[in-house]
Amino acid sequence: MNSSLIVDSLEAVHASILENEADIESLDRAIGDGDHYLNIRRGCTTLMAMRAELGRMLPSVALQAMGMKLLSTIGGASGPLISSFFTAMGASLSGKPEPARQDIAEAFAAGVDAIKRRGKADVGEKTMLDVLIPVSRLLTKLVSEDMPLDEICRQLNAEATRNMVATRDMIATKGRAYSLGERALGHIDPGCKTCEVIIAAVTATTL
Ligand code: ADP
Ligand code: MG
Ligand code: MG
Repeated sequence: MNSSLIVDSLEAVHASILENEADIESLDRAIGDGDHYLNIRRGCTTLMAMRAELGRMLPSVALQAMGMKLLSTIGGASGPLISSFFTAMGASLSGKPEPARQDIAEAFAAGVDAIKRRGKADVGEKTMLDVLIPVSRLLTKLVSEDMPLDEICRQLNAEATRNMVATRDMIATKGRAYSLGERALGHIDPGCKTCEVIIAAVTATTL
């Protein structure tokens, strides 16, 4: 991993988020307050404006700068959570100017763990963690097995989609959908949709 991969991923994520506006927007309108798409798009736009700067930083520094910036731009419940992901991921990579696959898997796990701690949530609560936790576990496993990169990417995307779809049958115990009780059934969690879109864009860039 290097900073140009981060910048390329950012561009791919930005484009995919715009393409998936209708899905992301309608999910948060159904079981949230309808602002999730705008929150995420604002985060992407802000990071896109930092591209040149990010490209000159070490990966750890770039990820931490992204985390700091997102804290003040995304807003909502998801802002501090996503911000903590990037900050923790960057911190985990500090002292590693050219992170290897193992380092990235470890950093991703550190990022997911930061979201768990910040949001006091875990799997099965109908939040973005329902995609992030299993994807992180699978990444760690596949990297330790020395799986080829294209196979890692294929499996991560399948895992993200499967777990995203599974949130349709969950009642939320965290976030805004909590107050809806059984009325949240039948709808995918918007944060999971966003994570699935981001994972697809990043893996497509990595290949
Ligand atoms: P808000 O709910 O404040 O309007 P967003 O709409 O941007 O914020 O984000 C909503 C998403 O945030 C949810 O779909 C869910 O995935 C995620 N989320 C909410 N609360 C938590 C939490 N405690 N832990 C992890 N993710 C959460
Ligand atoms: Mg919302
Ligand atoms: Mg909101």
